[in-house]
Amino acid sequence: MPVPTQEQYIKMLDTAKSEGYAYPAINVTTLEVINGALKAFAAAKSDGIIQVSLGGGAFASGSAVKDAALGAIVLAEAVHTLAEQYDVLVALHTDHCQANKVDSFLRPLLEASKKRIASGKGPLFNSHMLDASDLPMEQNLALSKQMLKECAALGIVLEVEIGVVGGEEDGVDNSGAHADKLYTTPADMLDTYEALNPLGQFMLAATFGNVHGVYKPGAVKLEPKILRDGQKVVADQYNDDMRLVFHGGSGSELADIREAISYGVIKMNIDTDTQYAFSKPIMLHMAQNIAGMLKIDGEVGNKKVYDPRTYLAKGENGIAERLQVAASDLLSEGKTLFGKI
Ligand SMILES: [Zn+2]
Repeated sequence: MPVPTQEQYIKMLDTAKSEGYAYPAINVTTLEVINGALKAFAAAKSDGIIQVSLGGGAFASGSAVKDAALGAIVLAEAVHTLAEQYDVLVALHTDHCQANKVDSFLRPLLEASKKRIASGKGPLFNSHMLDASDLPMEQNLALSKQMLKECAALGIVLEVEIGVVGGEEDGVDNSGAHADKLYTTPADMLDTYEALNPLGQFMLAATFGNVHGVYKPGAVKLEPKILRDGQKVVADQYNDDMRLVFHGGSGSELADIREAISYGVIKMNIDTDTQYAFSKPIMLHMAQNIAGMLKIDGEVGNKKVYDPRTYLAKGENGIAERLQVAASDLLSEGKTLFGKI
């Protein structure tokens, strides 16, 4: 059963924190990306997280339908089925859901989990993310509390965000705006712990200068010590700490990644780098096979090179190679808990 049960998922998150590693969390949009991710986790003997964004869900539902929740259900069901073929644990998660999308995305997915649970299965997703960071802190926490209650009733973990991850992702552009919120404060982290800890299992995407997308070296100033300082105020007062999530992992320096892990980061989101890893071999295939790809001057092209399987398989392998590097960077390589928990 390689999509973990909720009990196994909590154990995965806690083991990563106590042993000092983090799970690569890759955004998936197609079967090729899913298969590339599963192949990578198995090859690296690393457990991992597969996640679906609203844009990814809308894409997967088809351009005529564009229903983010429906597409997320389709991708998640595919992962449940395909992951059975591998000896690693791969959890399912949904990425940024803004406050105004809760009713059209999160709640239908919770409903889908409710139905699965009623039929004796586990929930559809192991965890969801609510990103109410565009709201004032007080309203963000109020909605986060409400959604954590709804998730916890189904045994589902909720990831929340305080502060704002910079850059642009999934059609949401935070570049330039919210500059004051790019670094979460220890007081905000303490408030989050106090609001959410009594209600259920949660993870926190605190921001420490991280941005979505990839930037040229030097453009992004990460301050992982912000995470350390926030954990310290919680530890001083409650002798506890939080599970942290690193958004915008693509293009980050290894030293910053490892430092963030040392402060309790147990999940790092990777999207931009794996998008590129998927597209680059396809671009090379096209560039090297123009005469076969196109029917030029009355010629018939070459079915062997324009069959989409030929180049999509190269994309799948590109994903698999990049994610294995991620498992090594995040120290999750060789640490699968499959068969042990
Ligand atoms: Zn993110």
